[in-house]
Amino acid sequence: MKAVVIRAHGGLDALLAEEKPIPAPGPGRVRVKVSAVALNHLDIWVRRGVPGHPFPLPLTPGCDIAGVLDDPGPGGAGPFRAGDPVLVAPGVSCGVCEACSRGRDHLCRHYGILGETCDGGCAEYAVVPAANLLPFPRGLPPERAAAIPLVFLTAWHMLVERAGVRPGDLVLVHAAGSGVSSAAIQIARAFGARVMTTVGSAAKAAKALELGAEEVVPYREKDFAAEGRRFTAKRGFDVIIDHVGPDTWEGNLRSLARGGRLVLCGSTSGFEVRTDTRLLFFKNLSLLGSTMGSRGELHEVLRLVEAGTLRPVVDSVLPLSEVAEGHRRLEAREAFGKVVLVP
Ligand SMILES: [Zn+2]
Repeated sequence: MKAVVIRAHGGLDALLAEEKPIPAPGPGRVRVKVSAVALNHLDIWVRRGVPGHPFPLPLTPGCDIAGVLDDPGPGGAGPFRAGDPVLVAPGVSCGVCEACSRGRDHLCRHYGILGETCDGGCAEYAVVPAANLLPFPRGLPPERAAAIPLVFLTAWHMLVERAGVRPGDLVLVHAAGSGVSSAAIQIARAFGARVMTTVGSAAKAAKALELGAEEVVPYREKDFAAEGRRFTAKRGFDVIIDHVGPDTWEGNLRSLARGGRLVLCGSTSGFEVRTDTRLLFFKNLSLLGSTMGSRGELHEVLRLVEAGTLRPVVDSVLPLSEVAEGHRRLEAREAFGKVVLVP
């Protein structure tokens, strides 16, 4: 089969197109014929490498897989039969520890992500744990279904589980064009919150408004904290959803309302910040970290996708052979929503 393989970290030329044997599913695992696989910022970290963090190279990246169950493996695949369309949950866990038993599999000490800690879906076939199969959302083509799992799970967990978003909350979502943010705007709106968002280019503003944002701030031209004071009539935001980190940190703390919650799921502008601790206690702030979410939350997301409340945002669909162009689009921040590859 054709597969993308990373043998050494590096630039776009680290994404090798190789022929590999079609993998066989062992116990507890199934084989999926990949119809579409979405790229995430995670794929860029896996390609470039992260200092001090080992990846099991060589590795086939790609964690957001939509496809057809090809071989249910020796143990079967629960309610799924060979030939069924399936969506694959990106997180892999041990399935037996206390966290897994409580349905908090993302807190499992053995948690990993397809395409990061084991081979993923940038290939014609992928072998995944049977427990990761999700019902395919009715009525969606695979290129749109593949755009759902990682970003909607991440955004749902940030807003619903970590921040406890409520009707009427004022929510700031940074960088509307990113996959997580395009999902977060919709989820916040679905819970009755009001959303201000930021964009890097005017072309992205109309799309952010379409997703339900009430106010869109071009962050290169305007100070988001000043715009936030105006939007919230000096009250501040109840919830801020961020993956930028240092560049937005001090503005975020100033922009939170009393009792406000800042949720961080990434840090694209660096890793160290300065915090005025007086803001924390005087304003009763909560600083929350978040990575992925439980598989059960993905089932909730999929029900709302089928109901039409949430919709995957696809920037572009490319053949798998153009994976490097997909990475380039993401790194250059040209995309609005997901870049999806089709084998
Ligand atoms: Zn576990």
